[in-house]
Amino acid sequence: MASHFLLSAAARTLSLARVMRMTDDQAFDAFRSIRWTETDGDAICPRCGCFECYTFKARRIFKCRGCGHQFSVTSGTIFASRKMPLRDILAAIAIFVNGAKGYAALQLSRDLDCQYKTAFVLAHKIREALAAEQAASEISGEVEIDGAYFGGYVKPANRREDRVDRRRKVHQTGKRQVVVVARERAGETLTHVAPTEAAGVPFVLATVKDGSTVHADEAAHWDDIERRFLTKRINHSVEYSTPECNTNQAESFFSRLRRAEIGIHHHIAGRYLSAYAMEMAWREDNRRISNGEQFLLATSSALAHPVSRQWKGYWQRTA
Ligand SMILES: [Zn+2]
Repeated sequence: MASHFLLSAAARTLSLARVMRMTDDQAFDAFRSIRWTETDGDAICPRCGCFECYTFKARRIFKCRGCGHQFSVTSGTIFASRKMPLRDILAAIAIFVNGAKGYAALQLSRDLDCQYKTAFVLAHKIREALAAEQAASEISGEVEIDGAYFGGYVKPANRREDRVDRRRKVHQTGKRQVVVVARERAGETLTHVAPTEAAGVPFVLATVKDGSTVHADEAAHWDDIERRFLTKRINHSVEYSTPECNTNQAESFFSRLRRAEIGIHHHIAGRYLSAYAMEMAWREDNRRISNGEQFLLATSSALAHPVSRQWKGYWQRTA
């Protein structure tokens, strides 16, 4: 019997134990070579782009010969102004990518022996870097679209006579949101958070390229996209798939996001729903590459991503 990819040794090229055994110098070298791949790890000034920099080895900082700017291996990246050792940041990324359903900040704080607040922001910085990879792209070819509700749970009252019809709008909290997904078969997964599924139609029109074939369910608001695209519809109350049409890839994405909600975070809603949705899209799209490659991909995205406006100094502003 052919073994599943995830059980093969090829899927397992990263070991957390190996990351944790790194010395400070090895972690520093790993960061350098991932950040400055084009020069094989030699520093490039983040301010002026100059290739000639002095290295102060003992303090692991650099100084640009052109403009005199002093910088570290994380300056100007999403890990700027870090206090955590480089090795621990690498370990955090390794732990993060290994969690197929996502990873809880509380658990990360226990793993790394750091404050919950530190782990929370670190995980969100990694999410932001992963999401930035997807943000600009369009998709084409065979595209599946669908939506699913998250958040706004209404707890039923204790006594039966006090219970209300939770499907009615007056009894809802107004916090329920819809994640709309557009997934290219054998390609990328893009997500969007909207108050209703119908409000996700403009997102589909904006991200799916002309000439694509779109697979959707029978919900009436998807009729609007039939004017632009060759559209195939599947009636889920009758069947989940026909030889012509199914939205099973979109459902797989929702399955992963739902498992992250139920199994890991217990609650995914509010303003961070979009971040979790994009994280799960990244995991879904990269599920068939080895964890070592996922680690490199995530680390290089993070080091190519500028200082986070949302997450830098988050607790100074919020707490
Ligand atoms: Zn410079």
